Amino acid sequence: MTSPNSVLDLDELIAVLGDGAVVTDPDILRSFTHDAAALCDSTPPLAVVFPSSEADVQAIMRFSAKHLVPVVPQGALTGLSGAANGTPGCIALNTRRMNAIVELDVANRVAVVQPGVTNKQLKVAAAEQGLTYLPDPSSWESSTIGGNIATNAGGLCCVKYGVTARFVRGLRVVLADGRAMFVGRRTVKGVAGLSLAELFVGSEGTLGVVTEATVGLDFPASAPLTMAATFPSTAAAGVAVARTLAQGITPSLFELLDRTTIRAIDAYAKMGFGSDAAAVLIAQSDTGVGASAQLDAIASICTAAGASEVVVAENAAESDQLVQARRLAYPALESLGAPLVDDVSVPLSALATMIDESERIAERIGIVIGVVGHAGDGNLHPTVIVDPEDPASLDAANRAFDAIADVALRLGGTITGEHGVGLLKRDLLEKELDPVAATLQRGIKELLDPQYLLNPGKVLRAR
Ligand SMILES: Cc1cc2nc3c(=O)[nH]c(=O)nc-3n(C[C@H](O)[C@H](O)[C@H](O)COP(=O)(O)OP(=O)(O)OC[C@H]3O[C@@H](n4cnc5c(N)ncnc54)[C@H](O)[C@@H]3O)c2cc1C
Repeated sequence: MTSPNSVLDLDELIAVLGDGAVVTDPDILRSFTHDAAALCDSTPPLAVVFPSSEADVQAIMRFSAKHLVPVVPQGALTGLSGAANGTPGCIALNTRRMNAIVELDVANRVAVVQPGVTNKQLKVAAAEQGLTYLPDPSSWESSTIGGNIATNAGGLCCVKYGVTARFVRGLRVVLADGRAMFVGRRTVKGVAGLSLAELFVGSEGTLGVVTEATVGLDFPASAPLTMAATFPSTAAAGVAVARTLAQGITPSLFELLDRTTIRAIDAYAKMGFGSDAAAVLIAQSDTGVGASAQLDAIASICTAAGASEVVVAENAAESDQLVQARRLAYPALESLGAPLVDDVSVPLSALATMIDESERIAERIGIVIGVVGHAGDGNLHPTVIVDPEDPASLDAANRAFDAIADVALRLGGTITGEHGVGLLKRDLLEKELDPVAATLQRGIKELLDPQYLLNPGKVLRAR
C-alpha cells in the first residue's frame, strides 16, 4: 500500500500533458471528488488530470509509479457505488477529453472508441449508419463507454440482449506501471488464449485504465409494443415472470414495480393503479410482426397467474402510455425524499420473496423502500428514501442496504447486479466471495498493480 502524498510536485506531469490538462483549483476539484452514490466516503483529489491520448495516460501512470501517487480513473461520475470517489492523496484521471469515435466499421458492425465517448454519442453515431449500440444504462445520455465497461453496466434491454460485457470485443489498456496493451479481438468469435479483455470489464478501474474499446454493433430492432399487468400480490407477479421465461418467451423489456412505487406513482401522476395493486409488470416486445402475438402470450400467462388487470397496447402511442409508469418510478420516489438506489440480483424464483423481504426490512427499520426491478433478469433496485441532512436517516439507509444484501445472498443471489462494488459494497463482497476466490482476486490485483496505485481501496481491501 502507498502512503498518501499530501504535497505533490506536478511540474513533471504538466510538462508532458500541458498546463490546462492538470487542474488543482480546489473549487474545481470538488466536482471530481465523488460519483452519484450518497453513502460513501470521498476525499478531494490533489489534482484532476485530463489526458487526451493513450500516451498521456501512460505518462500519468509512470508518474504515479515513480512518486507512488494513487490514481482514480473517472468517466462521467454517474457511478452508484463510490467506485470513482477520490481517496486520500490521489489524483483523478478523468477521460472526458478522450472522446473520439476512432472508427465505425459498418461492414463488420464494429466501433472503436476512446473511453470518454458517452453511450449516447456512440448510439447516435451508430444510428447515423443504420446500426445501434445496444447497452442502455438509464444514465446513457451522460455515462461514458469507459465507465460502462469498467462497471459492466446493465440496463433495461439486458433481459434480451445482455450486459456490456457481451458487446466488448477488445480493449486497449494502460497498466499501473505505464505499459499499454491490446487485449481481446475484433472478430465476432475468437478463442486465442485467455479472455483477458473480460478481466478488465467490471474491474472498476482497479486493474488498468481503458484507453480504447472495440465494441460490437447491431441492426436496430423494430419499435417495441408494450403490455402492462397489475397484480394483487408480488407472488403472483413473480409466478408470471418465471412462467413467461420458462416458456422460452424473451421480452425486450420486463420490468416490475412494487406496491410502494405504485402508490408513489399514483400520488405523483394519478395513473389510477389503485390501492389494491401490489405489483405492476411491464413487458415490451421488439420482434416486429410477432410482437403482438408475443405480448398476447405474456398477457395470458399474467391472467392465469392472477393479474387483476392486463392491458396490451395496439400501437406506438398506447405503448408509450403504458411504459410511462416505469419512466415515472424514479421521479415519483424522488417526490418522497432523496432516493438511494440499491442493486441486488436474485434467482428468478426468488424475485417475489426479495420484494416482500424488502418491504419487511423497510417496516423493521422504519424507512420507506420502493422496489423497481429488471424482473426478467432478477435484478432489483430497492430504493431507500432518506433525508440526506439527517444522520439517523442515513444510518437507517446503511442498515437497510446491508440487510437487503444479506437477504439477496441468502436467496442465492448477488450483492450487485449492475452498479458494482466500489466502496459501497466492499465489505459485503467478502461475504459473497468464496475465500479462495477472494485470495485469487487479490493475487490478480497484485500481479497487475503490486503497489496498489490504481483506484486503491475500491472493490477489495488490500491484504
Ligand atoms: C440516473 C442514473 C441511472 C443509472 N442507471 C444505470 C443503469 O440502468 N444500469 C447500470 O448499470 N448503471 C446505472 N447507473 C450507474 C452508472 O451510470 C454506471 O455505473 C456507469 O457505467 C458509470 O459510468 P461513468 O462514465 O459515469 O463512470 P464513473 O462513475 O466515472 O466511474 C465508474 C467506474 O469506472 C471506472 N472507470 C471509468 N472510466 C474508466 C476507464 N477509462 N478505465 C478504467 N476504469 C474506468 C472508475 O474508476 C469507476 O470505478 C446509473 C446512474 C445514475 C446516476
